[in-house]
This record gives sequence, C-alpha cells and structure tokens, in this order.
Amino acid sequence: MTYDEDRFELGVYPKRGITLVRGEGARVWDDAGNEYLDAVAGVGVAFVGHAHPRVVAAVREQAGTLMTAYSAFHSDVRGRFLAKLATMMPPELGRYFLCNSGTEAVEGAIKFARLATGRTKLVAAVRGYHGKTLGALSATFERAYRDPIAPLLDGVTHVPLNKVDRFVDAIDAETAAVIVEPIQGEGGIRECEPEFLRAIAAKTAETGALLIADEVQSGCGRTGAFLASSHADVVPDIVTLAKAIGGGVPLGVVACGPRVGEIPPRMHTSTFGGNPLACAAGLATLEAIDEERLVDRAGVLGDRFRARLIAAGCTAIRSIRGRGLMIGVELKQKAGRFLQPLADQGVLAMLAGNTVLRFLPPAVITDAECDRLVDALVDVLTEADA
Ligand SMILES: *Cc1c(COP(=O)(O)O)cnc(C)c1O
Repeated sequence: MTYDEDRFELGVYPKRGITLVRGEGARVWDDAGNEYLDAVAGVGVAFVGHAHPRVVAAVREQAGTLMTAYSAFHSDVRGRFLAKLATMMPPELGRYFLCNSGTEAVEGAIKFARLATGRTKLVAAVRGYHGKTLGALSATFERAYRDPIAPLLDGVTHVPLNKVDRFVDAIDAETAAVIVEPIQGEGGIRECEPEFLRAIAAKTAETGALLIADEVQSGCGRTGAFLASSHADVVPDIVTLAKAIGGGVPLGVVACGPRVGEIPPRMHTSTFGGNPLACAAGLATLEAIDEERLVDRAGVLGDRFRARLIAAGCTAIRSIRGRGLMIGVELKQKAGRFLQPLADQGVLAMLAGNTVLRFLPPAVITDAECDRLVDALVDVLTEADA
C-alpha cells in the first residue's frame, strides 16, 4: 500500500510501517484492527492516556466556544489553566509563558536567562536533548543534528552528566544558564544524580547563572513526582514543560522563578501561545492528573514494571534506568531489532540511543496491561537469547 503521506511529506521521519487510527487509554489500534499497548504514547505525550474523556469533553466544548484569543486579551480558561498549574508546581515557579512545543519552551528559557543575567554563555550536558530549532539545537548535544546546520549560538559548552567537578568548573561569571534534563530522554534515559543536580544548583546560585531544568519529557508526573527535579529537592530557576501537559494538544510552558525578574513588554510573544483550546486541554489534563492521582500511580507502576522485569532475569539486559514510567532498558546489543518483534506482540516501544529500549506508557495503564508489556519484552529478549 502506498500512502499520500510518503509522497508529500518531507521525509524526515523514518516510518515504522504502522498506521494508527484510534486510541483509548493505554491502547491504540492500527488500520488493520490490530491492538497495541502504547508505550510510545506520542513520545510521552499521552500521559493521561488516549482519548481521556475529560480532555475530549473539554476540547469539544472549547472548540465550539472560542479557539483563539491572542494573549493580549484575557481568557478565563487560560487563567484557570495557569492557576491549576500553579497548585501543582513548586511555589517558587509561579509565573508562566505559554507556547506550543518543547523546543519553543527552551527558546523562551534561553532568552529569559539572557535577559535576566545580561550574559550569553550556556552549559549543557553531553547527550542532552532540548529540541531542534536553532537556539535549542545549540544546547542539544548530538552532532549529527548540529554540525550540518552550524553556526549555532556561540558559547555553549557540553559537559558529561554527573561529572560534578567538571560541570561545576564549567560554570563561571559569564554563564547565563545551565540547561539539563533531570532525566535525559532522547539521550538514553540517564538520570542526574541528586548530588550532581544539587551541586550545579548551588554553583549557578553562587555565580548568578540560572538553572534551567528541561522537563519537557520528565515533567507532569511521569517519573513519580510532578517535576523530576523534585527527586533531588532542587527548585530550578526555570522549568520547561510540553509533551504531556496538553493531553495531546500542542502546548508548551516556560515556568519562571523569582530570579527571572521582569521581561519587557512584547520582548517575547507567540500568536498561538496560550490559545483557549490548548489551555482547555491543559486544564483538563492537569485535573485528570490530580484527581486520578496519576503522579503516584506513575511511581507505583514504574516499580511494578521494574520488579517484574528484574524477576524475569533476562541475560540480554545490561541495566534498567529511569524513574516511574520513564523507563530505559539498556541491552548488551543494539536495541532496534526488537521494536518490530515487540509490535508483533502488540507492544509499541521506541529507542533512546542505540542500545536502549524506551517505554513511556500512559499512567492510566492497568496493572494487567503493565504486566503484559513486561511479559512481551521478556519474550522477545528471551527468544533472542535462544
Ligand atoms: C521532546 C523534547 C524537546 C523538544 O520538544 P518538541 O515539542 O519536539 O519541540 C525538548 N526537550 C526535551 C527534554 C524533550 O524530550
């Protein structure tokens, strides 16, 4: 079968050969009627699950009421979304800029850090991923994405994660900000050790730089805390959120602490940022996370996944990384060859680097579905061993 998509798309997404047509909770269906447990979830977007009734109702209602209202106008639903977000964030992170994606949130964060400090240098992490627009791409580590596009922003240094001394030494009086993912997503589900995150928080405070936690993937509860930086008891100066927060509707947030200060009027704006449709979806998503206690659920399910996988004793596994439902299973061999066998078993997973299988299932996945996910993984890994 040929798809118009393949004829007309630019071709930057190698296709998986599956056409998804419908989703509900943790499950999706393809055009042949096959059912899958969805541990891709739009790269962690569907944290509250697909077609969450609350999100669906809110989007339907708002679409028929008012979809667009540039942020120069007040919007009741935008106000309610921001007020709800404020109840879930650390109290210090109480002011927000709304945009439409992860990379845009990172752009905003970099600009706000430059404005707040009057400096330009950035320190980022080896294997870090912050998006692909020019500013954010400067902080992204992977050279294959950066080199063909160069020159990017000047003054960005990449330092290995968890090397406390080297990282702290890279932060000086010219550093505008340090940007890190508390748990790296694309880079292989690698966690900042709590002492590491605390040490760079202390050094940024001491030197007048800002600490930006890019929680586009780790945020909104996926790791068992609303922010993954909370596991280290760190409150960053800026937190970026996107992926899960819109429940499937594009929505990005730059959350700002007191050190960001005032941003001059019109210095940074977005036509679509804060539109009522995305805010209604975001509000419904946060209400679902709160009322269904999905943050705790993500922690419990993550423990269940790990315990069952460890008990299976797969010799193909080198390590199990991440927290909550942000899971990386590092193999002793390349992981790509396992994606299709997993799909054949009714499980959609993705990679995070060459040797890591990544699982980002919705937090509404049932215990039985979670077990089935692990059992499918054990099956395909065991077959490879035999
Ligand atoms: C996905 C991701 C981004 C980029 O988000 P887009 O919406 O794809 O632009 C940035 N940072 C992190 C940590 C991400 O996981």
